[in-house]
Amino acid sequence: MAQKEHLNQVASLGCVLCKHLDLGNSPAQIHHIREGQGMSQRASHFLVVPLCPEHHTGNSGLHGLGKRGFYTRYKLSELDLLAMTIEELHENFYKHRIVPRSSSLVHSK
Ligand SMILES: [Zn+2]
Ligand SMILES: [Zn+2]
Repeated sequence: MAQKEHLNQVASLGCVLCKHLDLGNSPAQIHHIREGQGMSQRASHFLVVPLCPEHHTGNSGLHGLGKRGFYTRYKLSELDLLAMTIEELHENFYKHRIVPRSSSLVHSK
């Protein structure tokens, strides 16, 4: 399923905040952007960012500080984190894409 695959890919990126802060690559958990807002609908599995346990639920993390406190401390909103995540996925996609997809169409009729 596409959503599950996406979650695995995002988690495998490692914590975006650690990378942003030059703390290296830390194993990450998945944070859902609309998590904990009392939405009746489940948060989309595509609106997710990878955060290490500390930056997720720890004292210096998104849930520990709250969105406002998090922004004050890191000058990053959830959407900034999401943009960083998408950028990483995009870079990975092109890095591992050796053969252009269009080349397989050359011989097709
Ligand atoms: Zn982290
Ligand atoms: Zn979370």
